[in-house]
Amino acid sequence: MPVRTMRLVPKETLPSRMQPLSLLPVFLDLRGKLVIVAGAPEAAAWKTELCAAAGANVHVYCLDLTDDLAALGANPPAGLITLFPRAWMPNDLDGAALAIGALEGDEAEDFAIAAQSRGVPVNIVDNIALCTVGFGAIVNRSPVVIAISTDGAAPVLGQAIRARIETMLHPAIGLWAAAAKAIRGSIKARIPMGAARRAVWSRFAELAMAARQPPPENVIDDLSRSTPSAAGSIVIVGAGPGDPELLTMKALRALQSADVILYDRLVAPEILELARREARRMLVGKQGGGPACRQDDINQLMVALAKSGKRVIRLKGGDPTVFGRLAEELAAARADNIAVEVIPGITAATGAAASLQVSLTDRRYAKRLQFVTGHAADGQAPEHRWAQLADAEATTVFYMGGRTFAAMADHMIAAGCPQDWPAVVVWSATTSRQKTKLTTVSGVAGIVPAGERNDPCLIIVGEIARHVVTPPTVSVVAGASNAAQHTS
Ligand code: SAH
Repeated sequence: MPVRTMRLVPKETLPSRMQPLSLLPVFLDLRGKLVIVAGAPEAAAWKTELCAAAGANVHVYCLDLTDDLAALGANPPAGLITLFPRAWMPNDLDGAALAIGALEGDEAEDFAIAAQSRGVPVNIVDNIALCTVGFGAIVNRSPVVIAISTDGAAPVLGQAIRARIETMLHPAIGLWAAAAKAIRGSIKARIPMGAARRAVWSRFAELAMAARQPPPENVIDDLSRSTPSAAGSIVIVGAGPGDPELLTMKALRALQSADVILYDRLVAPEILELARREARRMLVGKQGGGPACRQDDINQLMVALAKSGKRVIRLKGGDPTVFGRLAEELAAARADNIAVEVIPGITAATGAAASLQVSLTDRRYAKRLQFVTGHAADGQAPEHRWAQLADAEATTVFYMGGRTFAAMADHMIAAGCPQDWPAVVVWSATTSRQKTKLTTVSGVAGIVPAGERNDPCLIIVGEIARHVVTPPTVSVVAGASNAAQHTS
């Protein structure tokens, strides 16, 4: 007779309870264990491979063995695979650690019953009702293994979550975890239990999460020192033109390992949200035409933070190698012997071109692609070789040209560029605020101030401007002589 326990503690003071759990994730050690796979070879192959990779001794019962399965049997990733070209029989399941059936109808049910009556966990492909165990989506950084289940509700969502986790964890993390296994004994021998040992392991975890390389051979020496020897570092990262989906995997990982992020105004808040929660975020950028850029101050701050042992991420809009004052920042880091790395990003021009579904170097119209600045050190239009910018066989993309384009257009026209040469202006490319206007070289000046001033804009000049595709329709792509078509 079950005993009813009395509630002695008032309800409000009870510790918070675990939320209901739809499935209990467990990690099964299959090394050397028997796994039975039965049924259709195509459906069974992947799970056969998976269990063999986990070191199991897999017996596969299939009436028609495929070439793929035969090849897998001849060369398993680990463990053993034995193929039996016959139907399964209940006794085959004796002593198994796991049973997998790629079966249908009554046979699936018989298989599940045969397994359950022997206490063998069973998985029937595409039949959740008969399963006692399920396979989730897997991220494999062995010995680190992550499994994601949606309890059958939305396997595609599970896959998407898996993809997100894949981007967060560098492949080297597995090697770090393997190293932890190898040095665990020495750490135990060298460092007393308690706070000191915990500090070593949390330092290890920090290094492993930030690592993009296998651990150094002397990692244990680094860890044993009471003060971390690793100096700070600087990573100059391209954040892309705006859409967070356009970050590179390297950029995302750098953000997730940051101590401090020095970011430009062009970097979208959604991108900063992807950074490590504990990272300090500092805005250091200026806006086009805003107060003078104190690049020296940024350099000094960046170097000082790195010297104090921080991992500094210098996060810049677009690509840091394109109009990004990269040279000065690299020089500052090198002058103080600070380890520095550059991670490229998608530059505004290629982001904009992709969103407009146009090739910047469409061979029918352009033999040359040039990125041009509209902003000299004094804030005015630079002294360009205007005839080159008037080249009818080039695509010319003006960065930072919103305020100075009128002056530049006069020079270009004087150098031979037709007034009605096509141009397209794109504000906030790749973001939800993106706006596009088709116009001409002489028409740009009339429409640029009309766009929101605070939104960065690119001016793309050249024949390709006639061929951009802008939502909602391309019907407005008109002859270049029609100035200032509004297409968004
Ligand atoms: N390193 C950046 C460029 C920095 S210069 C890159 O590679 O994209 C800043 C200029 O870039 C802005 O004045 C604007 O001309 C352009 N720009 C940056 N992001 C943009 C965007 N999302 N849409 C349009 N222009 C953009």
